[in-house]
Amino acid sequence: MGFGSFDLEAALQADTPVVQWEECLCLLCNGRRWSIVVEAPDTTLGSAGLWFAVVQCQDCGLCFTNPRPDLCSIGQFHSEKSPFPVHQINRPLSWWWRLLRRGARQKRKLSWHGQGRLLDFGCGGGDFLKRMQRDGWEVTGVDASAAVVQRLRTELGLRAFVGSLPHPELTASSCDVVTMWHSLQHVHRPLEVLRAAHRLLAPGGKLIVEVPNIDSLPFRWFGQNWCGLNLPRHLTHFAPQTLVQTIERAGFYAGPVRMVRHADWVRSSARLACRQAGAASWYRWLRGKLISGIAGWYSCLTSQSDCIQVTALKGEGDEEGADAIPQAATPEAGRLPRDRFRNR
Ligand SMILES: [Zn+2]
Repeated sequence: MGFGSFDLEAALQADTPVVQWEECLCLLCNGRRWSIVVEAPDTTLGSAGLWFAVVQCQDCGLCFTNPRPDLCSIGQFHSEKSPFPVHQINRPLSWWWRLLRRGARQKRKLSWHGQGRLLDFGCGGGDFLKRMQRDGWEVTGVDASAAVVQRLRTELGLRAFVGSLPHPELTASSCDVVTMWHSLQHVHRPLEVLRAAHRLLAPGGKLIVEVPNIDSLPFRWFGQNWCGLNLPRHLTHFAPQTLVQTIERAGFYAGPVRMVRHADWVRSSARLACRQAGAASWYRWLRGKLISGIAGWYSCLTSQSDCIQVTALKGEGDEEGADAIPQAATPEAGRLPRDRFRNR
C-alpha cells in the first residue's frame, strides 16, 4: 500500500479488521493524478490504528482518502468510539465561554421553506429532526445505521429510513429542504448523493451542507492530529472551493461559503497532538477553553475555520436538471437573490 507507517504485524496482533481496499479516481472530476497531502492513523484504536493517506487531485484540487476501505469494509471502522469528545455541560457557563461559543450552536436554525418538508441525510440521534418537528416541519431521516433508524422510529416516532441516497422510499420533488450536517464527507460517492438530493427537492428547494474544512488554520496547525480528518471515516476532505464545485456539479446553485467554528475540535486536536513525541509546546495552550475559543474565533474571522457550510438552491426550472453541470452560478445570481440563501 505504500504506507510507511503502517505496522502490519502490530495491526494483526491488535485484531485489526480485514479491509478490502479500493483506489478511486477523483470523486469530483475523475482525475487520475494526485499528490499526498497528509498521512494519519485511525485514532480510535490508539497506537494500533491503521494509517491512511489523504491525497489531492492535481486537476480540480479535491482532497480525498485514497486508497480507502470499500463500501463493504467501511462499516468496520464506525463504532461508538469517536475522536470527538461529548461535552456534557452540567454547570453554569462563564460569561466569556458563552461569548466564545456564541454562533457555534446557531447553525441549525432554519427559516420556513416551501411546505416545510425536511429530509436530514445522516440524521444520527435525531435531535435535529425532533427539534424541527416541534417547529412544525414534516421531517424524514436517512441514516446508514439500522440501529439508529430503529430507535428513531420506535422511541422518537420519527419517519426514518436505513441507507443512503438515492433511496427507493423517497420520491422525486418530495422535499423542500435537505440537510447534510457532517454526513457528506462519509459517503463513497458524494456526487451521486447530491444528485439524488437534487431530485428529491421540489423546484426552488434548498440544500444545506456542513462539512469539515481541510483548508483551515486548525489543519495547518495540527496536520495529522486535526480532528476533522477522522480517518478513514471521512472519505472526502472538502475545502470551500471544492465544496462549492461539487454542489454545483450536482446541479445546484451554491450560495456563499459560511465559516463555522468548533472550539471543541481545536481542543481535541491539541490534546491529540500533545500525545505525540516532540509535540510543539504551544499545543498545550490550545487545550484550554479560553485559548482554544480565541483560536476558533481567529480562524473563523480569517475565513479559515474548522468547518464550512453552504446553502444551495435547486432552480425553479430544474425538474429534470439533476445531472446538468452549470457553468457557473453567476448568471443565475439575478434570478436567485442572495437573501434566499440565508438560513435564518
Ligand atoms: Zn479532481
